[in-house]
Amino acid sequence: MRTLALVAVASLLLPGCRLWGRAEDRLDPPKEIRLGSDFAPLVRVREEKNLPGLRRGMVATVGTEVLTLDMRALLAAYPEGSTPWRALMHHEQEHARGQAAQPLFFYWYATQPHGFRWAEEKRGWRVELRYLREHGWRPDFDSWAKSLANDYGGMATYLEAMDWLRQEWSAP
Ligand SMILES: [Zn+2]
Repeated sequence: MRTLALVAVASLLLPGCRLWGRAEDRLDPPKEIRLGSDFAPLVRVREEKNLPGLRRGMVATVGTEVLTLDMRALLAAYPEGSTPWRALMHHEQEHARGQAAQPLFFYWYATQPHGFRWAEEKRGWRVELRYLREHGWRPDFDSWAKSLANDYGGMATYLEAMDWLRQEWSAP
C-alpha cells in the first residue's frame, strides 16, 4: 500500500497546462487503466469500492492489479503517464513481484509490521524514490516519513522513516 502523499507536491510541480489538460479526464475518469509491459506482472489499475481495508487516499496491489477506491482522486494526484504515476507503478510492481514470489505474502505482511511489512515497503519506496530522483523530482521527505510512520500500522517511527529516506536519497 502507498498513500497519495504526493498530492500537494504534484499539484505544485506540474505545469498549469498539464493540469488543465487533465481536467476533462477527471470529469469522467475511467474505471480501469491498462498498464504497459514495463510494469509486468501488473496488468491494470482498477477502481474497487468493496475491498475491506482499502482506505481513501491509498492504493493496494493484489496480484496483477493496483486497486484504488477513487480513480478520480488518484489521477488528480498522479496524472496517468506522468513521472509520479510511473514511479508509483514501479513501487506497486515490486509488491506484485513480492506476492508472486511468496505464497504467504499477505499473512506475513499482516502479521509482521516491523519485519516483513517494513522490508517490503522499503523495496517499493526505494524503487519509487530512485525513479523520481532519476527524473529530477525531489519528494517532500517530511510528508513521506509521516506517511510511512502513520499509514502502515506502525511499521516504522517517523525518525526511522526519515533516516531511511535520507540514506536512500544519497545512496548511489
Ligand atoms: Zn507499498
